[in-house]
Amino acid sequence: MSPLAPLKASSLYFTPLPPSHVVPAGKESHGRYMLTIPWNRVSGWGQPKIAARQELSFDPLAGVLQYAVTCFEGMKCYKTDNGDLRLFRPDKNFDRLKRSAARLGLPHDWDNDELLELFAKLVALEAPIVPDTDGSSLYLRPTLLETSEGFGIKDDAFAAEALLYVATTLNLGKGLYPSSDGEGKGIKLDACKEFIRAWPGGTGSYKLGANYGTVNISKKPGYAMSLWLHGKEDFISEAGAMNVFIIKQAEDGFLEFITMSLDGGIVLPGVTRFSLIQLLTEHAEGKKDFPLEGMPKNVRVVERDISMPEIISSLENGTLKGMFGCGTGVVVVTVGEIQYQGQTYTIPANPLIKLLRDTITGIQRGKIDEGRGWSFKVPEWDVEGKEGQDEEKVVA
Ligand SMILES: *Cc1c(COP(=O)(O)O)cnc(C)c1O
Repeated sequence: MSPLAPLKASSLYFTPLPPSHVVPAGKESHGRYMLTIPWNRVSGWGQPKIAARQELSFDPLAGVLQYAVTCFEGMKCYKTDNGDLRLFRPDKNFDRLKRSAARLGLPHDWDNDELLELFAKLVALEAPIVPDTDGSSLYLRPTLLETSEGFGIKDDAFAAEALLYVATTLNLGKGLYPSSDGEGKGIKLDACKEFIRAWPGGTGSYKLGANYGTVNISKKPGYAMSLWLHGKEDFISEAGAMNVFIIKQAEDGFLEFITMSLDGGIVLPGVTRFSLIQLLTEHAEGKKDFPLEGMPKNVRVVERDISMPEIISSLENGTLKGMFGCGTGVVVVTVGEIQYQGQTYTIPANPLIKLLRDTITGIQRGKIDEGRGWSFKVPEWDVEGKEGQDEEKVVA
């Protein structure tokens, strides 16, 4: 058997938008291009293509349609004040996509640098439409799914054919971005006991389509999103598709940033979560000051379970100093209110939440150099005859 072809950026086939290209009605806020890379079990990765965004078609018995064999990532491309494009820690998203894909029996064996080169070309083509203000971005949705029949009894559960693609859209999460700007601005969460997002031994820590479609129904009007609970103690896990932190005054005078640990496999290992933990921990240990001024010295990060009863009792005794969600979509948002068992709880605002948000945004938009190389600068891509040219196809 010949070895499977690796994913190779150099075999990219690029089709510029034809001069006659019109954006379909209702799709104006999406990127104009998409990247597709097919895979099959016999030959490995096929030719990557960048061409106009278009509909996909699959066999009616495809694994993605029948059994939700699909996983995804959420990344953003930012434009700096100088006009260059940045991605934030893309290797973290690629590694997480591998992990999700492995969980589903999908291919997960690519070289991240090759994939990054393709992503960089896709976003370089969209440079004219990437916005350049804090809170705005071009959102990238890498998706990997089973296109072969995922049906009947098979020798093993590994997909025969798959497709990795990237579609883009403008400004996902922008509406919630200002929620940390001041007193009384936080979002409202509805603590949900009826639908359980994740449980021990489940798939909550993987970014699988199936984790979202089954719980979206819990969304109540007037609330930004659900606060997910699990266990008889009503432990919180996440809110919507964000990781959650509470800020608490500890007895020894330290300010604690507490978030659920990843150990139980219930919580999605967010890149924003990791990044905040790293910045705060290195600051607390005196290794590297927090990038923006204003973070107290006596802080500590704690990863452990947090229950709704603990949130309520620390509200009552005044030790709860704030709560926030974080993720690529929203960056960092203040939680202002929780509805739980028919009661409404108002969470105190905390200016440190805005400091966290401004720090992450500053790093993402190249305004803050945190010295860890988190912001990847997208190289310019000069393709002869990029757009509106007569040549139909250009191989990069
Ligand atoms: C994507 C996601 C997050 C946030 O992860 P980031 O890498 O920070 O964007 C958190 N929770 C869930 C359930 C998610 O799907």
